[in-house]
Amino acid sequence: MNTAPVTRRWFLWGWLVLLVFLMLGTLIWLAGRYEVSQVQAQVERDAADGVSDIRAAFQRNVQTLQSLLSEARGPAVWAQEAHEVLRQHREWVRLEWRDDELRLMASADSPFRQPVFARFGRDNALPEVNAACALAKRQSGPGYSHSIYVSSGDGLGLEIMEVCLPWVTDGELSGFLVASYALPEVLSNLVGPHLTRSQQVSFTEPDGTRLAIHGQARRSKRVFTAQQLLDLPGYTLVLRVDSWRAAPDFFPNVLTALVTALAIALATVLYLLARDMRRRQRVEHDLADALAFRKAMEDSLVTGLRARDLNGQITYVNPAFCEMVGFQPQELLGHGIPAPYWPPEMFAEYGQRQALRLAGNAPPREGIESVFMRKSGERFPVLIFEAPLINAQGQQTGWMSAMLDVSEQRRVEELSRASQERLQATARLATVGEMASLLSHELNQPLAAISSYATGTLNLLSQHAADPSAQDLASSLGGAIQRIAQQAERAGQVIKSVHDFVRRREQAREAVKPHVLVGNVLPLVHLQARKLGIRVSLHCPQDLPAVVCDRTMVEQVLLNLARNAMQAMSEIPASLPTRRELTLTVKPAASNAASSWLVFEVADLGPGISQSVAAQLFTPFFTTKEEGMGLGLSLCRTVIEQHGGYLGHQANHPCGTVFSFTLPAQMA
Ligand code: ADP
Repeated sequence: MNTAPVTRRWFLWGWLVLLVFLMLGTLIWLAGRYEVSQVQAQVERDAADGVSDIRAAFQRNVQTLQSLLSEARGPAVWAQEAHEVLRQHREWVRLEWRDDELRLMASADSPFRQPVFARFGRDNALPEVNAACALAKRQSGPGYSHSIYVSSGDGLGLEIMEVCLPWVTDGELSGFLVASYALPEVLSNLVGPHLTRSQQVSFTEPDGTRLAIHGQARRSKRVFTAQQLLDLPGYTLVLRVDSWRAAPDFFPNVLTALVTALAIALATVLYLLARDMRRRQRVEHDLADALAFRKAMEDSLVTGLRARDLNGQITYVNPAFCEMVGFQPQELLGHGIPAPYWPPEMFAEYGQRQALRLAGNAPPREGIESVFMRKSGERFPVLIFEAPLINAQGQQTGWMSAMLDVSEQRRVEELSRASQERLQATARLATVGEMASLLSHELNQPLAAISSYATGTLNLLSQHAADPSAQDLASSLGGAIQRIAQQAERAGQVIKSVHDFVRRREQAREAVKPHVLVGNVLPLVHLQARKLGIRVSLHCPQDLPAVVCDRTMVEQVLLNLARNAMQAMSEIPASLPTRRELTLTVKPAASNAASSWLVFEVADLGPGISQSVAAQLFTPFFTTKEEGMGLGLSLCRTVIEQHGGYLGHQANHPCGTVFSFTLPAQMA
């Protein structure tokens, strides 16, 4: 078996599986990345939200502070109002009213904590306050300072950022309002609580130094960080959001998990399919082998096979059957009743047989003989064995028939029958020969007696010839008796020749002129011709060479042929006198006058010889006449063949038959 295609198939399968897994891996990786980018975008959004929260709150706070500047009041009243404000704003740790020289006019500290600057000293923060207020004065709006770390002494401290608002009364700068933001409080109070619940928010310097943090750091592998600038007049802070997420799952979401599961299911199905296909291929291979074996077996059969369904339609034929009937399979398959190989004259009988079969009558097991017709129209005998066709479910679906062409067998039987008949005929012929020999022996004596009585009578007549009264009678009687003596002698010769012929003695051959031969039989022919009203015409030139033959036997042949011809014409109605003519012709064989053979022809205008009669014409004892013996022609042929000649017949023109035979001419 060739292993190359198998290796190739495995290679392809390997590639397919690898591709599926690569695709799966890429899918999971892409989904993970997408998930990460989603989280990162969310954190970025949170940072942006935080910054906008703070900015909005700062703006609101500026308005609140401005309300403290709105009208002229005494420092004590202001401080009280400032306290109220501080109670509502945890992000501020201290509010101060300073004059235009930045001298402190009044101040208030947050009630929520210890005064921040108690230990640190407010003066230490003055440079920031100055810078913020200088900016505020310049811009006529809020100015922010850099943040400073204010230690509370116990290791703790706060990042503080100052915001300064100019106090303008009647278009003149009359002082400043300074508010100190505690950055951690800004983160915890001004940033939306949803942002700080699960992530850490912090302020950092642009260089990354952490200033304030809100929210708990969690233990997690993956940190997503987003930074956003908080641009304030005079100071820029960075808001940083750190989000802790669990490391993304291997399957980041349901869709990916679903696709993965589907892909794994697909791979499993592929595997099962491949296994199933392999099994199927193996079974198909086995089946193909079995089919090939069956086909080889069917093709090698000489028995014709034919299957028919229950409606009589042909469903299967093997090559031997097709060859037998001479039809192509496609001409037979699907063909119903009558089948194309049924001889038309048998339609009725076969149709009945078929109906019986369909009615459930099983045919005999030993088979039935039937006659089928080849495509050429030729009929031939077949022996049919039929059996019901049972399918896998045990139901009968039709009939299966095996046919044997028995024409060859019949031909052999016919041949042996014919040779048997010939043997019997030969045996009868031998008996007839014996009888003829016996008869000739027995008849010889009476014939000799007739001959001697005739001779005696002639002698007596010659004695009375002198008597004038009896002279007339004596002369006419004398003629007749002479004829009797001649014929008796001839009969004796015939008998002798038959005797010789039967005994197979060497015949006495002599050279005889043909016109002498014909002349010898003419009187007898004329006798019968006159009786039947037949004209006899003779074509026999006297200058033809003599033939070497047993003259008596050849005369007998001529006589026999002439008698047959006349008997045939006797059937012609008397109303057709032109068809009663017997022609005897003798001529050299072929066109060559120097030929060494002569042809004798006996032609009649009778009904002619049919094909079936012609086939048996020379068979001993074959006759169509009631009183016929059927031996004449058979004997004639034997006689002529003993002379080396040939006896045959052909149709005469316009009707009738010409019998002809050849005899060797005497060479000059
Ligand atoms: P028989 O004359 O005793 O019947 P033959 O052997 O002479 O036997 O002839 C055999 C058959 O041949 C005849 O019965 C006749 O049917 C046929 N036959 C012979 N000669 C002729 C002929 N000239 N025309 C037609 N049929 C002939």
